[in-house]
Amino acid sequence: MQKQIIGIIGSGAMGAGIGQVAAMAGHSVVVYDNNKASLDKAKTSLAATLQKLEEKGKITSAADVLHRLIFVDDIHAFATCELIIEAIVEKLEVKKAVFAEVEKVVSDTCILASNTSSLSITSIAAACTNPSRVMGLHFFNPAPLMALVEVIPAIQTDPELVTMAAGLMKEWGKVAVLAKDTPGFIVNRVARPFYGEAIRIYEERIADMATIDWAMTEIGGFKMGPFTLMDYIGHDVNYVVTETVFQSFFYDPRYKPSFSQKRLLEAGWLGRKSGRGFYNYA
Ligand code: NAD
Repeated sequence: MQKQIIGIIGSGAMGAGIGQVAAMAGHSVVVYDNNKASLDKAKTSLAATLQKLEEKGKITSAADVLHRLIFVDDIHAFATCELIIEAIVEKLEVKKAVFAEVEKVVSDTCILASNTSSLSITSIAAACTNPSRVMGLHFFNPAPLMALVEVIPAIQTDPELVTMAAGLMKEWGKVAVLAKDTPGFIVNRVARPFYGEAIRIYEERIADMATIDWAMTEIGGFKMGPFTLMDYIGHDVNYVVTETVFQSFFYDPRYKPSFSQKRLLEAGWLGRKSGRGFYNYA
């Protein structure tokens, strides 16, 4: 059977990673971004990653996988796609505008998914003429390594899409979990107190960041401590998710964001990607 053509909106950390997963699963993949520098960076880093995977014997040919990926700055290239996964900036109004634009160029049967970490899928779907084709497909970072994918139907979503998405994620070697369209879904909601309490412990001078990270990895068994993980995700993404979850739960103090993290964002200290966050990587 012919594999679906997959479209990816956004060539940042998540878009590039999801594109890699789809291309490695044998799909032709169209990666679109409105920023040329981001597209070039994604193309270069994906080529290097695939080369390393070939050298380690994890894939037979990096060139074959790379050949299935195209990088474009024109959404009309989505015309032949059957599933499009959006991974752009975590801002509802921007996502809604992009979904409305994309819907104009795709076929009537093309499915539109968002990789949002926290925004309402129902609200994104409402921006489309046919909201029943919209759903959430939430991958974790880094997408090629993390098995879990949350499958999130909006209240308007055609129920058949859930079955289709769960089957496709299995084909991609992922484990799908069905989540309701509520702020943060499952993982990002559970994760809020993980980050929030860690920051509060640090702000109350109960322990420093390195000690909290050490305790959570060495004793708690987590792969990364909360400060290392927030720096890895990026404060532009992580802080905004906390803010969205807080607002979406009608300002429930359990999800209250912190000034310490807000200041990092304001300074442009976004974490690993900018060379400085809670820790200094320079
Ligand atoms: P990123 O900043 O690395 O990449 C975003 C990309 O989107 C950039 O290349 C940017 O140029 C592009 N973009 C922005 N606005 C655009 C537009 N209007 N049209 C086309 N392209 C546009 O961000 P990311 O970390 O990849 O996150 C993307 C999405 O995935 C967000 O919704 C985020 O919440 C979600 N997410 C992030 C993580 C994570 O750990 N970083 C994990 C899971 C989900």
